[in-house]
Amino acid sequence: MIDTQTIRIEATENSRISELDENNIPFGKLYSDHMFTADYIDGEWQDLKITPYQNISISPANTTLHYAITVFEGLKAYRNPEGEVIIFRPQANAKRLNVSGERMCIPELPEELFMEALTELIKLDSSWVPSKPGTALYIRPFIFGTDEYIGIRPSDNFRFMIITCPVGAYYTQPVNVKIETEFSRAFEGGTGFAKAGGNYGASLYPAKLAQEKGFHQLIWTDSKTHEYIEESGTMNVMFIVGDTLLTAPTSGTILDGITRNSVLTIARDWGMKVEERRISVKEIIEAAKDGSLKEVFGVGTAATIAPIGKIGFQDEVYELSDPAEREFSIKILKELNDIRTGAVEDKYGWTYKV
Ligand SMILES: *Cc1c(COP(=O)(O)O)cnc(C)c1O
Repeated sequence: MIDTQTIRIEATENSRISELDENNIPFGKLYSDHMFTADYIDGEWQDLKITPYQNISISPANTTLHYAITVFEGLKAYRNPEGEVIIFRPQANAKRLNVSGERMCIPELPEELFMEALTELIKLDSSWVPSKPGTALYIRPFIFGTDEYIGIRPSDNFRFMIITCPVGAYYTQPVNVKIETEFSRAFEGGTGFAKAGGNYGASLYPAKLAQEKGFHQLIWTDSKTHEYIEESGTMNVMFIVGDTLLTAPTSGTILDGITRNSVLTIARDWGMKVEERRISVKEIIEAAKDGSLKEVFGVGTAATIAPIGKIGFQDEVYELSDPAEREFSIKILKELNDIRTGAVEDKYGWTYKV
């Protein structure tokens, strides 16, 4: 167990909390007063500290700048009706950070260290957790190699950090997506299952091309045949065809989303038919044409449930049902929000009180 005594706390004397307007939170621009850092040196995590949020200094030969030896996580803290701060499934993020890290030769970060760091940081910055419906404090833990070395080899030294920023409701409008059949995000044996920085940099160019054609995001397909649906850039994707909830199985090319897992768990509890299996693009397009495709949505921490309004495939655009009339999407969003904000009993033990 990591002793909280080992986290040195240097609190700010110039809080920026007055800059936070809960009615108008710009995404990813306003960071909370403090940040957590720990360094991995001589084979040990050490120098655990919370300091005022500030720039950090690194060598121009920093290995991560050149080779993207970095992994990250994303989770959220909410306020429950009693005004207490609760975090959704943080232990799952701690585990996944290590799954991602192993692929990038990043040493294991003990889950207790992750939890202690998170708890102390969010306690200190608890005034930054907004309370309006749809708002949350987004939490970004990340680890990166810190060696000053431009040779290509695993880093010996690393830094673990946590920064946080308040966020408003993520997507208000339905998302229009293009099914990508030329570029790939991930491939068998690659890093698609890891939240590794390079995956996201590499996804920008295909997404930009789609944006020029009027789409918000992509749905990626398998890199070998481009015939099977994988996921969206930062969300897993789900479909309701007839009365069945469908999503692609997790694999080496698909991120094992915590929201995905939560939605599947609740849907099964509700007695819904759920299938985790390969889904062909053809099947989805045919379902869109014959009217059996009832709902399509992305699932992820940032957006929770992002209704997909239109799907572009080849030269056609398929308009889907009115998001305001989607029974399952609306019901599951409410259930997840209620659990995450402590409005209903958390029978799964998913929330963690700070
Ligand atoms: C983070 C992420 C998701 C969603 O994961 P959650 O744990 O639900 O936030 C899905 N796909 C990709 C590629 C991601 O990076």
